Amino acid sequence: MRISEDRYDRDRQRLELALRFLTHEARTQTIHVWTGLSDHRIRNLYRSHLGRAACYVPRHRGQSPHQAAYFMRSLRIQQEASVLASFLAQQELVPAEPSAAAAAALPGIARGHRLCTAFETYTFMVPTAAISFEYAVFLTHCLARGDQLRIGRCSDCGGMIVVERFPIREKRCQHCTGGG
Ligand SMILES: [Zn+2]
Repeated sequence: MRISEDRYDRDRQRLELALRFLTHEARTQTIHVWTGLSDHRIRNLYRSHLGRAACYVPRHRGQSPHQAAYFMRSLRIQQEASVLASFLAQQELVPAEPSAAAAAALPGIARGHRLCTAFETYTFMVPTAAISFEYAVFLTHCLARGDQLRIGRCSDCGGMIVVERFPIREKRCQHCTGGG
């Protein structure tokens, strides 16, 4: 009895996370990795829960983001990545010692919900948020892996910023560069 109840609870948590990911327009593959649900169940969930709202929640096809350079390509994205990273860190999603193993161990139900919370806080704090949920998942992965991007410190105030692993020059946060 207890075992089946636990199993039911776990399944419900998976479905809740899948729905939360779906409302953020996550790809089926991303939802599969984080919830462990089959593609078939994810598609059914999409149809049954978001069917009527489906025209407002587009599905994205094709490849998930895979280029860390995206986060460095403009000052605006760099600054927003730093804001998002601070919320990811707040949700304990950035390991103290990034590694491939830490990145591989990242996906899971509890961390998935905390990732959604971090993303929702970011979109609340930055109303014109430019970083999509898929890219937020990718940033979380990059920071856990640490081979291309890391959490760094502003050279003036010590504030948290996202930097390349081997930055060419010292980096400053948006307050110290006067960028808003
Ligand atoms: Zn600063």
